[in-house]
Amino acid sequence: MSFYNEITRYNWEEIGEQIYSKTEEDVVKALSKTVLDLSDFQSLISPTAEKYLEQMAQKSREVTQQRFGKCMQMYIPLYLSNSCTNHCVYCGFNHSNQFERTILTEEEVRVEAQAIKKLGFEHILLVSGEDQKQCGSEYLGRMMDELKDDFALISLEAQPLDIDEYEMLIEKKLNTVYVYQETYCEANYKNYHPRGKKSNFRYRLETPDRLGKAGVHKIGLGCLLGLEDWRIDTFFTALHLQYLERTYWKSKYSISFPRLRPHVGAFQPRYETTERDLLQLICAYRLLNPHVEISLSTRERSFFRDNALQLGPTSYSAGSKTNPGGYANKEESLEQFSVNDDRSVNEIADMIHNHGYEVVWKDWDQFMQT
Ligand code: SF4
Repeated sequence: MSFYNEITRYNWEEIGEQIYSKTEEDVVKALSKTVLDLSDFQSLISPTAEKYLEQMAQKSREVTQQRFGKCMQMYIPLYLSNSCTNHCVYCGFNHSNQFERTILTEEEVRVEAQAIKKLGFEHILLVSGEDQKQCGSEYLGRMMDELKDDFALISLEAQPLDIDEYEMLIEKKLNTVYVYQETYCEANYKNYHPRGKKSNFRYRLETPDRLGKAGVHKIGLGCLLGLEDWRIDTFFTALHLQYLERTYWKSKYSISFPRLRPHVGAFQPRYETTERDLLQLICAYRLLNPHVEISLSTRERSFFRDNALQLGPTSYSAGSKTNPGGYANKEESLEQFSVNDDRSVNEIADMIHNHGYEVVWKDWDQFMQT
């Protein structure tokens, strides 16, 4: 059994019809409840709920502060490699794009890590393109060996792996794995992922199952907003989250929603997700699930991040570079995407303090995992 068995019981169009037929009565009912189900969640992400955004935001803020206090977990990505054998049509690291690929060596990773440590971070997120031969589990394990004594916690956002590979990496201090489905619409998935291992919808979809079986501490989910109708895709993300929480109850969970925006010359999103939509989504998730970590990255502009800070998110990135070697080297390699909030780490930490929040650089250590 896996989530694939569960998702095949649902029909994409029918879920869309359910969301788009929600009434004001449904939204008010969802807002009056303390324990919400997926039908309430559909109400809160529906177009009808748009005019209730103020109430949703107030409630989301209360629920977040009750559960997490006034704290913001900080994270920063360390890009190990931009080598990738996949052909995702929306990504600059796409295998078809001609540019010189970079794969950091142990020495380069150490230098990069020291630059990140100096910024104050105690947790590190390793990010890599998907290249099984050159950046598979053996490579990832070697990089973790280099970093495990310097960081309290290592997270990973890289190609999906098998259970035994995750088990091997957990031994090397791997704590959290983020694996975004991009879209839960199986019918259109291949249009965005035409070739390479990532074109296998089912293998990717079942990755969180493998992570749960391997016993990873935290699993991160999400979809890429802009590929399909965000209301339907994020319903399926919520369904996935609920399935995982039921099935692998020892693991914790994290959600994030990277947003594709129109750029000249780049892949154009089929469905726009506005900042207002994103805020509605964050609040709806918080009301559905008071415990889940919600991340908001530097993909979003500073104005939005400043205003969303108290309304649901619990984890912010800062000072991010999305190219391998970006922290230590002046010579630029290709970025995966450009960040919109390009303030320094100190500027973002000050902004968080100024909202009366505590900046959390470390909330976990390996000894808690053993
Ligand atoms: S999104 Fe990931 S898998 Fe797809 S081309 Fe970019 S780096 Fe490779």
